Amino acid sequence: MEFNDRDIILQAKDVTKIFKTQNNKSLTACDKINIDLKRGRCFGIVGESGCGKSTFVRMVMNLENITSGSIIYKGQDISKFNKNEVWLNRKNIQMIFQDAMSAFNPKMKIIDILTEPLFNFGLLEKKFKYEKAKELLNMVELSEEYLESYPHNLSGGQLQRIGIARAISLEPEILICDEATSALDVSVQSSIIKLLRKLQRERNLSILFICHDLMLVKSFSQELAVMYLGNVVEVIDSEKMQEIALHPYTKALLNAVFTLNTFSENKVKLLSGEVPSHLDVPQGCPFVNRCEYAMEICKKEKPLLKEVAPDHKVACHLISRK
Ligand code: SF4
Repeated sequence: MEFNDRDIILQAKDVTKIFKTQNNKSLTACDKINIDLKRGRCFGIVGESGCGKSTFVRMVMNLENITSGSIIYKGQDISKFNKNEVWLNRKNIQMIFQDAMSAFNPKMKIIDILTEPLFNFGLLEKKFKYEKAKELLNMVELSEEYLESYPHNLSGGQLQRIGIARAISLEPEILICDEATSALDVSVQSSIIKLLRKLQRERNLSILFICHDLMLVKSFSQELAVMYLGNVVEVIDSEKMQEIALHPYTKALLNAVFTLNTFSENKVKLLSGEVPSHLDVPQGCPFVNRCEYAMEICKKEKPLLKEVAPDHKVACHLISRK
């Protein structure tokens, strides 16, 4: 499918987050992140824990201030919004969290959890509360018998469905899923993914899907960004990823997953070395101390994310040399 700039619903431009530690050191959690989310599509972000993907989406949700850069939604820089604008924008961008249980007030009944956002925005009259809550439950394929239940009466999968229903109740244009299925069993995980796919199709939702599981991100998203140590190192078409990946880190991730999945007799080529601390990011390429192709230039100069083909960007000196 051909896309143009008008189809981009959310754009991150050079989004950077630097935290100050207690010792007054700088910790760069996200370094000039550039991402385009297209309308009605799912954009995945994958990377090991601590790579900065959750910090990034917290900035998109205005749960974290950005240090520099901009986040453009429908022509407006939402990172500059004041408190009231942030609150109003919650209608447009909603999020579902990994731990649904802790996201809800344990003393509230499901009927109240589901309808609270609508009452907060003055979008529901009391007399329609039961009908609306029932409709939301049906939407996520749960029976109305749960309306009078409390969160602790529901399973993890059922709670995640409540989280989705609550997020969708405001009819947002963008849904952010931050490790939303990671705490669930594999069978429950696949039923939640199926539900998200259905809702995305029916509502033309744009989804940012953040997960550490490469295969899950790859199967759910159309396009994805691979993050390493606060940097996007490759943006790639999810379906063609296996054939066209260029960055050594992306290739190593794919190699590990596919070798394990196919029970190949070839040894899994594990990445050597440890992920450095965010307080000790190498001066040049962030991947330099684990990369088997590292050259002199990689120690000194950070490679920029460059377009190598339509919708395919890579940050690696190997590629820019070709
Ligand atoms: Fe490896 Fe150099 Fe490419 Fe970094 S820039 S991934 S160190 S080859």
